[in-house]
Amino acid sequence: MGTLASRELELIRSQFAFSLRDRIVTNNAASTQPPLAVLELLRDLSETYENVHRGQSDASIRTTEMFEASFDTIAAWINAPSRRTLSMHRSTTEAINAVMYSLLADFRDGDNVVTTLMEHNSDYVPWHAMCREILPRFGRHVEVRLARFDHESGELDLAHLAELVDARTKLVCCTGGSNFLGTKPPLDQVRAIADAGGYVQPDGRVGALLLVDAAQRFASSRVDVQEMEADFVAFSFHKLLAPFGVGVLYAREDLRETLPPFLYGGDMIAEGQVFPDRVEYNDLPWKFSAGTPNILGVIASAQTLRLIVDLVGADPTRAWFRTDDPLEPGAVDAAMAIVAGHAASLTRQAMEGLSTIAGLRIHGASVGEDRTPLVAFTVEGRSPFAIAHALNAQGVESRAGCHCATLAHHDLGLEPAASCRVSFTVYNTPEEVDRVVAAVRRAVDAPH
Ligand code: PLP
Repeated sequence: MGTLASRELELIRSQFAFSLRDRIVTNNAASTQPPLAVLELLRDLSETYENVHRGQSDASIRTTEMFEASFDTIAAWINAPSRRTLSMHRSTTEAINAVMYSLLADFRDGDNVVTTLMEHNSDYVPWHAMCREILPRFGRHVEVRLARFDHESGELDLAHLAELVDARTKLVCCTGGSNFLGTKPPLDQVRAIADAGGYVQPDGRVGALLLVDAAQRFASSRVDVQEMEADFVAFSFHKLLAPFGVGVLYAREDLRETLPPFLYGGDMIAEGQVFPDRVEYNDLPWKFSAGTPNILGVIASAQTLRLIVDLVGADPTRAWFRTDDPLEPGAVDAAMAIVAGHAASLTRQAMEGLSTIAGLRIHGASVGEDRTPLVAFTVEGRSPFAIAHALNAQGVESRAGCHCATLAHHDLGLEPAASCRVSFTVYNTPEEVDRVVAAVRRAVDAPH
């Protein structure tokens, strides 16, 4: 993995508005900050501001080209075979809900969904709602099962997962990286367990479908959907320097061909093919693109990916070229190796520093080196919220709460169901980590 020298880091930081504030941004697992160039791009896009697939003006045609090319850039970034496998959503949450609604009609009475106790609520609540609220109304009873994790190591209990998956497991949902424990479950083994269950899918394929919630994994490492062998992969751009508002769902192309869309309406139907008694859906990927999409968000997200390659490249101040040219897979690997290596080294440093504070417990402390770049902790007798407020008073932006990993907090018996979390990305520095550790120490030592 690559690393960043302090001169390179300084240059990278100069590309962000937050560098002007004397604050340390360590709430990156919630959302990262956007580079100034991306905010400028949003302003510049007003020159060709138009809807897509809905006009013959030069501006509309150019916007459509940029929008469509963004699908190719995003596909290249995650090594998806083509844009046909992608749909754009508001967030990871909406992308996972899209899977739920697309699969809804396929669930048979007696089927089950297996997910884990370390999921973000967005990969549990939709399945809970489907099983407890939606399907029972249609007389179908589908169970949601939860695989445990080891309370000491934070690792997913694969033996328990294998016990839960059986011949009626239609779908296995697993986080690609926990936003609380740091765990990155071994997805190859999760895939093997899903297959071994032996569920027979409507197309004759044997094995459970696998959905990976890659929201955190995407933010800190290269996500290669083909290597992952997942059927569905969901993630959000606001976790990796892009503006808010765009989540992506990758789905295997044959599933895209056969599954029904999640939303119905304009642009997702073939030109002119709507009649009182039938409609014909558009070609992929537009079959899954009903209504006006977040055009600026999608274009800015794809261009942010290109910018990352430049940011961590040889000279981050080099004029950033906005382009629709194909993205080289090697460039993505190299860029994300640097982002991952840097964030991992900061996380190691933070864990070492924080573990010297008396009474402080790091959750998922012994998850190995390959973890999401965050540290969640609690301190005996201290409110995580009070710590986060005390950090804020010292200029450190952190987060206290359950981080939507509510099941895991309950499972660990944390009362209240909350922890304090600091998380790192490409623009954080080792000096900042030292200051964060010192600030936590002061917050813990302060009279209460
Ligand atoms: N899954 C994980 C692991 C996350 O960390 C998050 C965001 O915190 C989400 C899903 C939800 O992402 P979004 O808010 O973009 O829907």
